Order: sequence, then structure tokens, then C-alpha cells
Amino acid sequence: MFLLLDFHSPLHQNLPRNFPLLSVSLSLSLSLDVYTLYIVHNLREFTEFQLRFHCFVLQIRFLDSVFAPEAMKIETTLIVFFSLLLFSLHLSSISAQEVEDESEFDYREGSEKGPRHWGKIKKEWEACNNGVLQSPIDLSSERVKIVPKFGDLKRSYKPCNATIKNRGHDISVYWVGKAGSIKVNGVVYDLQQAHWHSPSEHSINGRRYDMELHMVHQSSNPNVKNKIAVVGQLYTIGEPEPFLAQFSKQISSMIDREHEVGIGEIDPADIKFGGKKYYKYLGSLTVPPCTEGVIWAINKKIRTVSHEQVQLLREAVHDYADRNVRPLQRLNNREVNILSTSRGS
Ligand SMILES: [Zn+2]
Repeated sequence: MFLLLDFHSPLHQNLPRNFPLLSVSLSLSLSLDVYTLYIVHNLREFTEFQLRFHCFVLQIRFLDSVFAPEAMKIETTLIVFFSLLLFSLHLSSISAQEVEDESEFDYREGSEKGPRHWGKIKKEWEACNNGVLQSPIDLSSERVKIVPKFGDLKRSYKPCNATIKNRGHDISVYWVGKAGSIKVNGVVYDLQQAHWHSPSEHSINGRRYDMELHMVHQSSNPNVKNKIAVVGQLYTIGEPEPFLAQFSKQISSMIDREHEVGIGEIDPADIKFGGKKYYKYLGSLTVPPCTEGVIWAINKKIRTVSHEQVQLLREAVHDYADRNVRPLQRLNNREVNILSTSRGS
């Protein structure tokens, strides 16, 4: 666009200076050219450099108008006027872009990238639409079976270096080394990361809570069929959640910005659960690719989080994910069991 402006420039310079009308019409056509290009090319591609260059050209033309004869002044005034108009359109486009973001999926109900369409966005995401063991689900008391000898959920975590990351659709904590594991029915799953959703993705008897934490674990054993185990914790508004409270400053520094910062040694055991009963069922990841065969263990006891903490998480992620919650999925005759833990911390 700006190259074209320059290309036209010599033409303007050589105009007969006592011919203001021709000059005016050329200015108009130039502005229309610029505007057409503005429409044709998505302005997202335009860089700050181009913007500065545009300003530079405007400055030159302004100086020109001060020292040039009358005809030149009219011409320049028009160019400045139309360019400023385009410039303001450009600025409004930039602010719209910040809100929009380039994410591959979002959580908006009517959006083409919303939860109903995830399975069509990529071949590898098909399970999001075709799967039969999808998450989240409603954990209704009618469906829950208590199986006393089902097996234990053992947690053994240790402090390890971590980073906190704004992934755009959520805030997550990644442990860089070995932060410990859980054992479900004798299988060891290593802790990878934890992240938050608000409101909660799982509901209990139809009620969604204010926040849900997911601790994602993975088994490195090639003989294990279900490779991922997620421990979930639901929260209602009340006292602040101490684990999340440690990172308020870092989260505030990443508002609307996909970014990560080191947070030193973090002990996953600092995430308090309390209670010894978990809902357990077989489901999927709640974000694309919606991989199935995920063992879910959701604490029956509800804990608290402050309103400010939930607000900060929502503010920090991109606008399309301020409610980063996937709609409830069909149960398809799945069983939900109550699993007891050997550690009630
Ligand atoms: Zn999650």
C-alpha cells in the first residue's frame, strides 16, 4: 500500500502547479487506490514498520505543503486527510485483532471454532465430535456407584522446578522435571501439568461450580492402554485458594498475552484436596484433540477460591476463552464409581 503511495508520488510532483483540479482528482484516485488495497489485503499483515513508513511519508508531504505553491497545498491536504482516515481505520483494526487472536479453537457458542465444531477443524480432532467416551459429564448421584474394593488412588508428589504459562485458552503450571506421580490400580502416572477452567467443566447433579483444576498425569509404560489420568478439583466462591494465590503476580503480568515465566521449585503436594472420595470414570481430554481413554478422578469434596482469583484467570486468558468450559458430553452408559484414596491430604 505504501509503496504504491510512493510510486504515485513523482506523478504528483510533476503536475502543472496551476492545475489544481487535476491534482485534486489524482489525489482522490490515489486515496481510493490505497483504500482498495486496504480492503483487499487483510490489515493483519501490516507491520509496525509499514505504519511508521506511512507516517514518514505524511510528514514529508506536510513539509512539502508548507513550502510549495497553492496547488500543491490542496493536493497534500487531501492526501493527508484521506491518509489520516485510513490510519484511524487501521488503528481500529489493530484493536479488533487483539480481541480476536489466532487460536485454532475457541469456546464461543456461535463460533465456527467453537466446541460444536472442534471435531471438524482437523482430522486428528475427530473424536471431539464422533467420540463416545467424551468429557466433561454430569456426575449425578443416581449414576454413581460406590465400589469399595475398586482400588486406591495414591498420590506421591515432590517439589520440582516449574513454569507458569498463559496458553491463551487457559493458565497452566508445567513441571520441568520429575514432580512425582499418582498410582491408579497399580499403574504409575507421572505429573505433567496443572491448569484451571472457570466455571467448572464437570457438574454435580446438574450444578456447575466456579472453577475446576485439572492435574494431568501420563504413563510412560508402553503396555498401559489408558495413558492419561487427570485429577480434578472443583471450587466454589469463598476463601482464596492458596496454591493459585502464589502466582497472582505472574498471572497479572501475562494478561491477554501468550507467555511463560519460571516460578522456581513448586511442590504439587501444596495443592490441597481434602476428603478421601473421588468420582472415577473413563473419559477424554476436554480440549482438542479430545483423546479418549483418559482416567478421570474428581474429588468429591468441593474447595473454595476467591472471586478475585477467578476474575484474574478469566482476564488473563484471551477473550474467546474467558469461560473456558466445554459443554457437557453424553454419558453413553458409562459407569461413574466412587474411588477411595489412601491419602486424604
Ligand atoms: Zn482441563
